[in-house]
Amino acid sequence: MENIPWRISYYNIAVLLRVFMFVTIGLSVLVMAWGLARRYRLWRSGQPQVVSDRPLARLGRVFVYAVVQLRVLRQRYPAAMHLMIFWAMALLFIGTTLAAIDTDIFELLFRAKLLKGDFYLAYKVALDLAGLFGLIGLGLAVYRRYVQSSPRLNVDWRFNTTLPLLAFILLSGLVVEALRLAIQQPAWAPFSVVGYPISLLFRGGAEPGLRATHQAAWTIHFAAVAAFFVLIPWTNMAHIFTSPFNIFVAPFRARGALNPIPDLEQAERLGASRLTDFSWPQLASLDACTECGRCQAVCPAYEARQPLNPKYLILDLQHHMTAEGPRLLGRTDGAGGRAMVGDVIKPETLWACTTCYHCVYECPVLIDHVDAVVEMRRYLALMEGELPASLATTLTNIERAGNPWKQPRRKRTAWTQALDFEVPVMANVGEAEVLWWVGCAGSYDPRNQKVTRALAQILHAAGVNYAILGEEETCNGDPARRAGNEYLFQQLAQANIETLKQYKFKVILTQCPHCYNTLLNEYPQFGGDFQVMHHTQYIEALLAEQNISVRPDHDRGQQVTFHDPCYLGRYNDEYEAPRVLAAASGMQLVEMARSRDRAMCCGGGGARVWIEEEGDVRINRNRLAQIRATGAGQAAAACPFCLTMLEDARGALGADDLVIRDVAEIVADALVAPGQARPQDR
Ligand code: SF4
Ligand code: SF4
Repeated sequence: MENIPWRISYYNIAVLLRVFMFVTIGLSVLVMAWGLARRYRLWRSGQPQVVSDRPLARLGRVFVYAVVQLRVLRQRYPAAMHLMIFWAMALLFIGTTLAAIDTDIFELLFRAKLLKGDFYLAYKVALDLAGLFGLIGLGLAVYRRYVQSSPRLNVDWRFNTTLPLLAFILLSGLVVEALRLAIQQPAWAPFSVVGYPISLLFRGGAEPGLRATHQAAWTIHFAAVAAFFVLIPWTNMAHIFTSPFNIFVAPFRARGALNPIPDLEQAERLGASRLTDFSWPQLASLDACTECGRCQAVCPAYEARQPLNPKYLILDLQHHMTAEGPRLLGRTDGAGGRAMVGDVIKPETLWACTTCYHCVYECPVLIDHVDAVVEMRRYLALMEGELPASLATTLTNIERAGNPWKQPRRKRTAWTQALDFEVPVMANVGEAEVLWWVGCAGSYDPRNQKVTRALAQILHAAGVNYAILGEEETCNGDPARRAGNEYLFQQLAQANIETLKQYKFKVILTQCPHCYNTLLNEYPQFGGDFQVMHHTQYIEALLAEQNISVRPDHDRGQQVTFHDPCYLGRYNDEYEAPRVLAAASGMQLVEMARSRDRAMCCGGGGARVWIEEEGDVRINRNRLAQIRATGAGQAAAACPFCLTMLEDARGALGADDLVIRDVAEIVADALVAPGQARPQDR
């Protein structure tokens, strides 16, 4: 064995010290397990939810988000930092496990060695590099948190303790190795690519002194490891366990579909006013937060100085769960304590959310802020009847008149009067290839009626066999659902599904991403399975199949930037079709710094369009400033709410030179009328 590289187990470590180390590490692991189990018991006080379905898909998700860390990879600096720390710890954990197997199984039971020869040399190189990169990663973390002082990261005793402690563990591990190499001086020492250069510093020291120092360093190293285990449940390091766990138990659902309240008529409690009203995986998700601040950095409400910070929404609930621990575990009675909705989470925080989904989209550990917000809004709306006054009026209008403006049903088709052709109505024709769901804004709002007419011209020019519902159409229910009035939403959804099922059609077409999302993703919860297309997708198909033509030089020489609606882009992954249309008439498309899946909300989603805002800093004005920053003279939209919010901001900021059009208007304005020569025929 003399010339074969191999690992000497517990070199220079007395038996008593080994036993002491085993006991200490064992106890610290027990304390850690107790702390984590205590949190688990708190989570289980939530409502039951099955998490054993689709186990392979759940494991696949853990691989993608916890091992590969797909969402962490989106930002270069944090990605490099976290991956270095994560993989260093993972490799060192594997290395320590292999060492234990080598000593306690191979050596003890079989009198053989696992860690020897080339495998041992590769093991040494890998573990030394892991230690080095782990230290670099921790250095990057410290620089970012303490020197750069990134506003999305907080500093407190937990970070002040765990970051230096981790660095100390890595460094002391390398020093222990270096001292051993300095005493042993094996021929293969240079394979310890980091420990070996350090060992040269100790060469020449007296052996008894080196041995004593090695033992002391070894003891301190393991004491630090034990301290780290003990700290895990009480610090941000708990995310090592809680984040993958949350990724595993998080529900599978279409992004745009909110959870329905089951047995709405019978339910005694509606929405969430107490922690125990959340599902148990929702409570688990509160502890999964890594406090990375990605959600805070992208939240349009936070940026507009509204009383909402998605990171603290989660952390405040997490702290509330800690404070409520004895009550949740049944050790004290239910009286007293702070009210979750009201004291811990203010109603104005809940109403500030636009449900833009950006926080959820960025969260590396799949925490769903929107679900939590809507659950608490449900409590306010259905149990307390506490809504902002303008929103309450809107919902009453929807309930009574089927639209947010309390307009009479007969006026739903008023927009057709300015057209020089008939718009077919389903009640008259009975069936059509395309059922065009016009939506409330498209039917009643004067600015959006122009978009509706533009779309009608396109359908007419293409000779599409379509029909509208006319007076039979009513609000799809999105504002009611996002405002927390699930009762009204379910009423509307069921009535609409019944209406739709009366007719024969192949596809529902709509120009509103909110209608699109609700019909596509939420109506299936109530038996309404329809093929649904957004007008951007439908018009793009008409262009591609040459059913319509536009003059490609109609707007040549101009620049346009496209504002992605949250409910079309982030919720439903449609980014290309609207861009094709925005550029169809010859304009050069320029992108905002925040576009596509990273686009900022206009401020109108989540029923926010119906809530009156105060103050000069507003989401829509911030977005308009981003549009202006591109230098484009035109902005394209593909959503009635976005159009309204951006037009409002343009008025408020006096940006009269900016042209804002829906993509349907861009296409309709450049449309080659039927019978006219198409550009390619000229
Ligand atoms: S959904 Fe949008 S507005 Fe609401 S908390 Fe998340 S990022 Fe902020
Ligand atoms: S909720 Fe998610 S994105 Fe926000 S701080 Fe926590 S882990 Fe980061």
